[in-house]
Amino acid sequence: MEHPSQERTLVIIKPDGIQRALIGEIIRRYERLGLKLVALKLMVPTEEQVEGHYTLDPNWRRVTGEKTIKGYRDRGLTPPSEDPLEITAKILKGLKKYLTAGPVIAMIWQGAHAVELVRKITGGTEPRGAAVGTIRGDFVPDSYVMSDQDDRAVRNLIHGSGSVEEAEMEIPHWFKPEELTDYKVTHEDILYSKELKGILDE
Ligand code: ATP
Ligand code: MG
Repeated sequence: MEHPSQERTLVIIKPDGIQRALIGEIIRRYERLGLKLVALKLMVPTEEQVEGHYTLDPNWRRVTGEKTIKGYRDRGLTPPSEDPLEITAKILKGLKKYLTAGPVIAMIWQGAHAVELVRKITGGTEPRGAAVGTIRGDFVPDSYVMSDQDDRAVRNLIHGSGSVEEAEMEIPHWFKPEELTDYKVTHEDILYSKELKGILDE
């Protein structure tokens, strides 16, 4: 089995993250956890690239639609449609507009439990409900109430892969193999070495 320290996840700083001058802050949060940056690029994605990204998982349309319908019910509201796919089509349209509105930064972070820990630090999808201390919770006030009223995607600064399987599909969608750099950072010794050797003079 691959060592947990080899796990990789895709992070995208969305256009609002760049406009809010949060590039450094966002990178700092992942970097200080001990994760290692193994690829990075700034680009304006195309609509095809955004649609391709969200539909890599064939279940995403259904799951997102169902989640959204449940969200409406939990708020005591009637969903705009009972058909999850119709709801997701609208969300996808909003996402294409959102993510192609300006440059984004795509990154690959590597380290123990990278997927899960990036999601934890990033916070829940709806910034309004995201926990204090998470990036979304600390830096953005957006909500489904507002995004629904204005008929747009919820603006939550960042994308982080939702699972290891998602990360494995998303990484090649955004990066060619030669754009990844394999290297060592010194702090990996204290995080991952089996024997704590080489700290004291012997
Ligand atoms: P991401 O995949 O961007 O990291 P996520 O995994 O937290 O976010 P998903 O359910 O995958 O959330 O939804 C993808 C994106 O679609 C969200 O980040 C958000 O911008 C938008 N979105 C999702 N559900 C809704 C909704 N009900 N209303 C508006 N926008 C939504
Ligand atoms: Mg997702």
